Amino acid sequence: MPESHTSTHKKEDEALDLGLGQRVSVLLPLPLEGSYDYITLPETMLQPGDIVTVPLGKREVLGVVWEDDRLNAGRDGPPLPESRLKAVIERLPVAAITETARRFIEWLAAYYLAPPGNVLRMALNTREALELPRRIALYEPVNNEAKLEGLRLTPARRRVLEGLADGPALPLADLAREAGVSSSVIKGLEAAGVLRRVEVEQRRRFAEPDWQWNCPELSCEQADAAKALCGELHQSRSSVTLLDGITGSGKTEVYFEAIADVLRKGGQALVLLPEIALSSQWLDRFARRFGALPAVWHSDLGQKERRETWRAISENRVKIVVGARSALFLPFQDLSLIVVDEEHDTSFKQEEGVHYHARDMAVVLGRLGNFPVVLASATPSLETLVNVERKGYQQLKLTQRHGVAELPEIEVVDLRRDQPLRHPGVPGAAGQSWLSTALRGAISETLGEGEQAMLFLNRRGYAPLTLCRTCGHRLQCPNCTAWLVEHRLLARLQCHHCGYTIALPSSCPECESQDSLAACGPGVERLAEEVKRLYPGARQGVMASDTLSGPGAAAELIAAVQEREVDILIGTQIAAKGYHFPYLTLVCVVDGDLGLYGGDLRAAERTYQLLQQVAGRAGRAERSGRVMIQTSEPEHPVMEALVSGDRDRFMDAEADGRKKAGLPPFGRLAAVILSGEDSVQLDRLAAELARRAPHAEGLEVLGPAPAPLSMLRGRHRRRFLMRADKNLAIQSQIRGWLGSLKLTGSLRVQVDIDPYSFL
Ligand code: ADP
Ligand code: ZN
Ligand code: ZN
Repeated sequence: MPESHTSTHKKEDEALDLGLGQRVSVLLPLPLEGSYDYITLPETMLQPGDIVTVPLGKREVLGVVWEDDRLNAGRDGPPLPESRLKAVIERLPVAAITETARRFIEWLAAYYLAPPGNVLRMALNTREALELPRRIALYEPVNNEAKLEGLRLTPARRRVLEGLADGPALPLADLAREAGVSSSVIKGLEAAGVLRRVEVEQRRRFAEPDWQWNCPELSCEQADAAKALCGELHQSRSSVTLLDGITGSGKTEVYFEAIADVLRKGGQALVLLPEIALSSQWLDRFARRFGALPAVWHSDLGQKERRETWRAISENRVKIVVGARSALFLPFQDLSLIVVDEEHDTSFKQEEGVHYHARDMAVVLGRLGNFPVVLASATPSLETLVNVERKGYQQLKLTQRHGVAELPEIEVVDLRRDQPLRHPGVPGAAGQSWLSTALRGAISETLGEGEQAMLFLNRRGYAPLTLCRTCGHRLQCPNCTAWLVEHRLLARLQCHHCGYTIALPSSCPECESQDSLAACGPGVERLAEEVKRLYPGARQGVMASDTLSGPGAAAELIAAVQEREVDILIGTQIAAKGYHFPYLTLVCVVDGDLGLYGGDLRAAERTYQLLQQVAGRAGRAERSGRVMIQTSEPEHPVMEALVSGDRDRFMDAEADGRKKAGLPPFGRLAAVILSGEDSVQLDRLAAELARRAPHAEGLEVLGPAPAPLSMLRGRHRRRFLMRADKNLAIQSQIRGWLGSLKLTGSLRVQVDIDPYSFL
């Protein structure tokens, strides 16, 4: 998109008249509030957005030229005279940060109360991509008849020349391999003047998705939705559309049509997915539709992959990117569409470093860049549903599953009446059961039909708690307020918050009794053990983030389920995401109540979304599906909504509750988390902040309270929670409150605007 630089052009002219370099402000990717001034050498012209290196003390650091009036409004004192400014070292050979991206960085920093430099760092964290791509030497033929005629043409030489006849120029090693000759043969041809060595920049070529590769036949409903999305694209203005369709209704197919439209017009599009590393099925579908894979962006990417992808996006050679939330900071040149798939997924909220919500920021980026944003979900968040009414988001509904598939039947199993029975003849903890008679019957039936079952339990490991039967001691993480989770496959205990791990002890660390440690409650590994006991002939697969060694292993397991090499899939929430297994007809939720409690304002909403998502895996093809949820509370509104299928009524009731309490999305929340190594110092700071807490109409500050995880990674933690009416600018209240705070020692203050985690 073209950039306008009218104001800066004027300044350059003045500077040139004086024969001086230009004064420029540069934002550094460091925790700084404002930009620093530098001077350019007379012959260099810099524009806002240019990426440069500058001196900082004795170091040389990266920076981006910025409009000087945008970050330093509050700067005290006059700017330094030009004579005292240091000079910019160089401008890096890479596309400038676009104006849209600059405004986005400012917006995000102001909203989440983060130093703009820290936000910029997220956009510049692929340092190697900023340099020119490496150069490599290639060999190509020289068109010189005379030299060719004088050449003694051995068979080896002929193979080399033939190898280059119609193809591209090749690196020495490749050419030698293809022609089956040693490199000296090629060097000889170079010396004879028939081959030439040329140096070129090494740029990985990304395959180009083709919008007309394999167009699906859309149902009427799908075609209408696709048309509406494309209509938004033609408007070239910002808009938000909620693509609200039941599981299996073809939301992906529909937004693929919008992507096809972007490809046709030559723009760039970004799709955000919650678990990108596990989305082999999604990638396969994309390739089937467009004949090539999109570029992929997530934190597990290797260095080379990162560098090449970043560079190609900045050169507008990559059109479609699918990524995790950090993909919002990629150097798009012509971004014209963002799709946020599973928009309700809370993993879009970043909980480290700069806290931000990628779905919300996608909407902001669309607004700044004047392009449409699509939010897709079968269970939209309450925030988004409210925005349909309040902010005029467009809502497109898909009400039918594709083809003959129907939504599965959902029933609850009342655990108060149908308690899982111990396995007869198996003493102790090993004899415990987690599967009711109803579930066992349904699983047997499904296996009997040659179909697949999935057991869902959102708990990794073998058991969430280990306790001593002699003295009652519970094994806890020394760094966190959390129990250690047993992972029997690894024979270790692990803290899921900090990663602390120890070998499973043979005696109680407290009373030293031998063999008295007992596993309490089930995790997926324990469930797998029970399944083996009950269905010894069934082939099982366990899908949890730690039982899979990486994206490759996940793809393999998914393929195995797809190919019916697995009869029973046991999984945590990662098994719930968007997968399409045609022979999966039974989904069993082992503990439907897990997650319902815990004092989180979104606990019910989230449980509903997760269970609906899991349920949506059943019966996605010709065979109809069945979902059974074990619960001790069949009357809970979440369970009633799942059984009745009345999502809207449930969400309306949720909305009512939140509205009465003034909670999001009807009010604002911000968390202020204090942490430190010394609890006495920390409590002193908490008391000090409590004294200074702001008072205003429509504003409450709760706390300080020990955080539920009152110790995390060896640091003590205290929390404040600020609640404010919707029309109140919570950011300026917090800025006023914490602005002049001086922190000493190990004390830290973290602000989380619109928190999703309350731990
Ligand atoms: P959702 O994202 O809404 O859960 P999907 O887009 O995954 O639904 O569609 C479910 C299944 O139906 C997928 O296997 C998809 O390929 C298939 N499907 C949906 N719409 C069509 C269509 N119009 N033509 C062919 N297959 C379709
Ligand atoms: Zn003990
Ligand atoms: Zn821990």
